[in-house]
Amino acid sequence: MPELPEVETICSAIRPDLVNRNICRIEVFCKKLRYPINIQHQKKGLAEIIAIRRRAKYILIELDNKNVILVHLGMTGSLRIESPWEKRKHDHVLFWLDNSMTLVYNDSRRFGQIELHPISTRGAFPQLLHHLAPEPFSDEFDIDWMVKVCKGRAKPIKNTLMDNTLVTGVGNIYASETLFLSKIHPERPSFSLSRQEIKILHKSIIVILLNAIQAGGSSIINYRHPDGSEGLFTRELRVYGKKGDTCSDCKKGIITQTKMAGRSTFFCPVCQK
Ligand SMILES: [Zn+2]
Repeated sequence: MPELPEVETICSAIRPDLVNRNICRIEVFCKKLRYPINIQHQKKGLAEIIAIRRRAKYILIELDNKNVILVHLGMTGSLRIESPWEKRKHDHVLFWLDNSMTLVYNDSRRFGQIELHPISTRGAFPQLLHHLAPEPFSDEFDIDWMVKVCKGRAKPIKNTLMDNTLVTGVGNIYASETLFLSKIHPERPSFSLSRQEIKILHKSIIVILLNAIQAGGSSIINYRHPDGSEGLFTRELRVYGKKGDTCSDCKKGIITQTKMAGRSTFFCPVCQK
């Protein structure tokens, strides 16, 4: 499942081919993914793509008519750009561009999302995304925000990190990695973290996500770049998927796997307190 670094990487990869191009035609081959696809009515009008942006794990294809096409890749969604279109199983939506290139949305499990939403002004975000927490690289995402998020919250810190209304962009893989870097046990109640620990955690979130973006994300199971290449961050993962390995930091602990809120969680029982 793509997380923030992967989505950022995808945005960078598709941006040069899409910005300033007109969408001539949209073809939709299935009624709904996770939610109904509401872009069928756009078949006729031409719209120019003026920006490709990201908010949390959403890709925003901004059009010159104050609308954005919101794309969420869900579990198995992927985007590719090709000319001519080479039909593959699970190609659900095609965006035909004015230069005969096609942006293709493919999704075998159909947990993704493609929706057209109005925006108030250029560069704004649609209402649907207003509830999301600040972006990890924004000024609003500071230590005070993190302290507020953890205060009085009994649920484990790993689950708090994965709540998009509290912290945006930390999915399952990077939650384990961030907590390992911070030396914080994933099952610790959020309120039990000291201000100093929160400071370290805050820094770790940014470091891990930036490193992952630089490496082009991780390639795990279904995720690949639009050009088919793999992200390199997989090689830098230190706990995720490392069950049974000796901890690369303390050299004593054996990386342990557990389930939290139904998701695989990895940690070192020796150096994460
Ligand atoms: Zn360790």
